[in-house]
Amino acid sequence: MKNKKLNLYDLSIPNDYNLKSIGITQGLLYTWTDCRIKFLLAINRLRLKKSPVNTMFGTLFHAGLETMYKTNVKSFTEMFNLMKNSVIDEIEKEQRNLNSLTIEEELWDKWLISCSIMFPKYFEFYKKEILRIKSNKNILEVEEIFEANFNCNYKRVGKIDLIFKDIRGDIWIEDHKTKSRIDLFNMQQVLSIDLQGLFYCTSIENLKLIEIKGFIHDIIRKPEIKIGESILVFKSKLKNKIEKDPSHYFKKIKCVYSDTEKRLFNSDVKKKIVDIELFLNNKLHWYKNQTSCMKTFPCDHLNLCLNSSGYLINYKKIETFFPELEDKNEN
Ligand code: SF4
Repeated sequence: MKNKKLNLYDLSIPNDYNLKSIGITQGLLYTWTDCRIKFLLAINRLRLKKSPVNTMFGTLFHAGLETMYKTNVKSFTEMFNLMKNSVIDEIEKEQRNLNSLTIEEELWDKWLISCSIMFPKYFEFYKKEILRIKSNKNILEVEEIFEANFNCNYKRVGKIDLIFKDIRGDIWIEDHKTKSRIDLFNMQQVLSIDLQGLFYCTSIENLKLIEIKGFIHDIIRKPEIKIGESILVFKSKLKNKIEKDPSHYFKKIKCVYSDTEKRLFNSDVKKKIVDIELFLNNKLHWYKNQTSCMKTFPCDHLNLCLNSSGYLINYKKIETFFPELEDKNEN
């Protein structure tokens, strides 16, 4: 018997998703406010098939930072080999699952080269701070998956890259982001990342009963890759550029949150949770939110929404509700 083709208009609320036992991530909460179609697809665990090479730079860089904070490796070569091997295994596994896609060798090589050039530079750029954080038990958590229950109604889940204590004893959460574009004046982006900061800070405060001073967005610029440019030229250009201006590639934005901001945020989330509950009980409808289709980047589901047939072409059903807790995807 032929498999019935999935169609957006046939999708319903899945039985296995609920806010109490599965919970909600900052990403899914953002998706809810962004567009209900996106949310419906996400809770049905339907994702567009994409080549894992697209997210390779972010995955590698995260693995490198995790290795750096968790272990006492002696050299960058040792650290780089450690992270490279584990990530390559993951990507190859994903590749086998996708079956129909082939790894673009050129991109693969260039992302590996980018990481091998940029990682030591990152360390050099933040050396003093990294060494201080690594010393004297200032690291509280690295790559921690948290589950924080709120009033027995729902739980918030997420993955935190780093929690550390600063020189004054204040506790910070740091998140590493790899981005191809950094526009510090783009308020939309700043607001969306603020949502993440407050979500993480208030969740950890609720879970661990400690005060979190604020959230640090550690942004690493993904280098531009020109297809067809020789590996040697690409390598030497990147080396020169980063040598000349490392601050172009590495930026940190610190956000300090007051008690009032945290309280207001928690109350906003509570209201959104009420709406989501209604939606999950079929008491709120879904509709296209056209204002969200084209932002900095077009929505992943644009082709689906442009096509009135509603057929989910090139989608896959994934195992987990929150793939972001396993892999760090880039924006
Ligand atoms: S393309 Fe627009 S309407 Fe469709 S899911 Fe994305 S944001 Fe929603």
